[in-house]
Amino acid sequence: MSVSTTTSDFIPFSQFIHEFKSQLKHLFHVRTDIDQLSIKRGMPPFILREIMSSNPLATYIPQQYGGRGGNIHEGLALAAAASYESLPLSLGFGINWALFLQPTGKYGQEETKAKVFTDFLNNRKMGGLMITEPDYGSDALHMKSSYTEEDGKYHLQGTKHWAGLTGWADYWLLTARHKNGDGTLKRDIDFFICDVSAPDQNIIVEEFYENLGVYLLPYGRNHIDVKIPAVQKLQPESTGIKMMLDLLHRSRMQFPGMAMGFLQRMLDEAVSHCQERQVGGKSLFAYDQVQQRISHLQSAYTICSAMCFNSSQKAGVENNLAPHGLEANSVKTYVTDLMQSSAQSLLQLVGAKGYRLNHIAGRAIVDSRPFQIFEGSNDILYIQIAEAIQKQMQRTKQNNILQFLQQHELTEHAADRLKKLFDFELQLPLSQRKLTEFGAIISRVVAMNLVLKLAASGFQKELIDNSLINIQQEVSALMGNFKTNNTTAYIEGYEETESWFDCYSRTS
Ligand SMILES: Cc1cc2nc3c(=O)[nH]c(=O)nc-3n(C[C@H](O)[C@H](O)[C@H](O)COP(=O)(O)OP(=O)(O)OC[C@H]3O[C@@H](n4cnc5c(N)ncnc54)[C@H](O)[C@@H]3O)c2cc1C
Repeated sequence: MSVSTTTSDFIPFSQFIHEFKSQLKHLFHVRTDIDQLSIKRGMPPFILREIMSSNPLATYIPQQYGGRGGNIHEGLALAAAASYESLPLSLGFGINWALFLQPTGKYGQEETKAKVFTDFLNNRKMGGLMITEPDYGSDALHMKSSYTEEDGKYHLQGTKHWAGLTGWADYWLLTARHKNGDGTLKRDIDFFICDVSAPDQNIIVEEFYENLGVYLLPYGRNHIDVKIPAVQKLQPESTGIKMMLDLLHRSRMQFPGMAMGFLQRMLDEAVSHCQERQVGGKSLFAYDQVQQRISHLQSAYTICSAMCFNSSQKAGVENNLAPHGLEANSVKTYVTDLMQSSAQSLLQLVGAKGYRLNHIAGRAIVDSRPFQIFEGSNDILYIQIAEAIQKQMQRTKQNNILQFLQQHELTEHAADRLKKLFDFELQLPLSQRKLTEFGAIISRVVAMNLVLKLAASGFQKELIDNSLINIQQEVSALMGNFKTNNTTAYIEGYEETESWFDCYSRTS
């Protein structure tokens, strides 16, 4: 494979990705056995060295700094190639791309950018992002990490945890709030590039966590007490919070890249297992219920393809994605739900043999689960999707969901297919649990719209048709829940009342 630091030296991307896939296959199935590798934390150094030897992260670096250009469709294809073999590897790429290189390229100062990109290209460096703190996860805007300015440097102090590549990355994007003279913190959030090998910028890992899955990647709790030169501060176009939204929404739009290979792998594994496995004198593949599961897996493949197609058009760094939460949140929530449900389905089909960490099916469940938690917990993102719709409906004084969705650019094509389900007046405001349910419905409608857009590009019609039927069935089931009233909540003191055993003893 060609290793190169200047754009002109790069082999064409299609050739690169083809060779990269072969390289991963060889590494994980010939030189080593990924099923055995994956039950241990980390990765043998020679594997990482081999993977990085083809300079994959160059895909994410702009051309003027010697990279391949940072094209979204190529970045998604790279993430997909990695996730077909290893979801954690793809997550590692995704972290470097969306959480470090893209924001650095877009908001970094010239001098720092040139140095960092050169370091990535020539020295195979890696970067990640630290937002989460032990007491501030979903509520990240209230983070307590702070900074003051001293002698032309920013002095950052705080505790960060759960950052992907903990103890491994060479560069970090650190987030903190400005500390006023009276000790209070400003509302806005600023971003700083920390080079852990530079003086006063070392980050101390206080504890490594025993993460449940994604064993390849280290996580833990970090003590931050660093002094960052002024040139390493990111420069937002307006506020730091808007810059963070642009960054996070772009990352969420790029989740389908990591999901793509993974979902295809779930499908391929299910098909090959079911074709081989004989149960009750016939192939599993011949059972109707099995066909339904496989069709759902294939539908997830199609939906994710539609999302990749769409993100390739929209997620470029030249676009400000801060105002596009509805679309980005719909994509992230639904594709991560599909990852988890596909993994669950594969394990069901494989049966007991799959319930092992050294089997792709078992691992897929624990590896895909955190995607529903990080970069915005799905529960909360669903609420945000519904709140955005609720607000727009109130503003346009439109209570009929069907009419609203028919006029919305993210749902206009899908709305007509769902006429019967949506032709009713929405009673606003919705309770939080109804917002969550409604948000989940909207995310599926947005996805259906994307599948219809993909259809117009000439994507295989049978795949499109099957996936539309599957989404429609899912929306209809979700709508049943949504329309059922349920305001139950926790009942205090339940443990002091009679248990089933007491009831049985008393009545028998
Ligand atoms: C594998 C993994 C990788 C990660 N990678 C990174 C990384 O690279 N960088 C980084 O900075 N962080 C990372 N994180 C942290 C992640 O972003 C946080 O875990 C996430 O933001 C949730 O925060 P929390 O865990 O503190 O949960 P909490 O904020 O305590 O939330 C827990 C749950 O409570 C519920 N909830 C919370 N608020 C509300 C509300 N307002 N309304 C209704 N329900 C609510 C939701 O169900 C939510 O899932 C990672 C986490 C994991 C597990």
